[in-house]
Amino acid sequence: MTTGPHRPATGPLQAYLFADPAAHSLSPVMHRAAFLHAGLPGEYEARRVPPEDLPAALRGLRVPPACGANLSLPHKEAALALMDGLTPAARAIGAVNTVIRRGEDLIGENTDAPGLLDALAPLTGPDRGQAAVLGAGGAARAAVWALQRDGWAVTVVNRTLARAEALTAELGGTAVAPAEVPWENMALLVNASSAGLSRPDESPVTDEVVARLPAGAAVYDMVYRPAETRLLRQARAAGHRAENGLSMLAAQARLSFLAWTGADVPLHVFLNAAQAALEPHAQGEAP
Ligand code: NAP
Repeated sequence: MTTGPHRPATGPLQAYLFADPAAHSLSPVMHRAAFLHAGLPGEYEARRVPPEDLPAALRGLRVPPACGANLSLPHKEAALALMDGLTPAARAIGAVNTVIRRGEDLIGENTDAPGLLDALAPLTGPDRGQAAVLGAGGAARAAVWALQRDGWAVTVVNRTLARAEALTAELGGTAVAPAEVPWENMALLVNASSAGLSRPDESPVTDEVVARLPAGAAVYDMVYRPAETRLLRQARAAGHRAENGLSMLAAQARLSFLAWTGADVPLHVFLNAAQAALEPHAQGEAP
């Protein structure tokens, strides 16, 4: 799914995050650790790029030593029209989180989708069934696209039903109002909504919903600040396997790094760097 050069890079490399805001991002520590691990001369810089400056920032990526960039809020959708090419994932999801320089061309990729699948693999095992995705924004779009390609039958649940319906009309799956979801059938619950983000006491679902999930269900919360969200506490109290979104963040970073450099750095390098950077910070800090 990820487009990469499939060869080790040789010269010095420069990668970026373009976002607004860009402070507090864990991407620099993850990618710097990856450059070190791979023994590659490279640097990763987080730049605050307001929307009106995105075209100029992207122009700067077209020449060495730039190898690419990550894009975050608010650029993931706006970048689509500024790329020379898009991977199938970026085109279908309608969002670019990774820009890859190929010669002077910029290719838009989405590593959130395969990153989620990599993060889910240890939690779900090989069986597939019904999955509920909470949310209808960019993260939910990536989840719905990825999970369906991975063999899951996806139900999209969002507090604004019309947004869930618009998403499924485009990407597939079934949009269901929260009160109508057959939670007993959901082997997997993925929170791709912002509920719980920086709010340790907020959950996108009630205790009763979590208790209705079948035995052996897996719950994945894309939120990782705070590390222990209310949803994860609810899930563990009900005996379900549960994990926060740090593994997805690390997995998407690993795939971006692979696409830029050709170096397949192990996931734990990204995960350990992100965890170490998070530890001194107070829970509830802004993302
Ligand atoms: P987004 O486009 O702003 O969408 C937010 C979604 O959350 C909307 O569907 C919104 O519902 C819903 N929502 C917001 N507050 C809610 C609440 N209190 N209760 C229930 N639903 C609520 O955001 P996004 O870019 O998709 O990101 C969603 C989350 O995923 C964020 O927490 C983000 O940090 C996380 N994320 C994590 C990773 C990772 O690597 N771990 C990657 C990408 C995103 P309405 O439609 O009704 O407004």
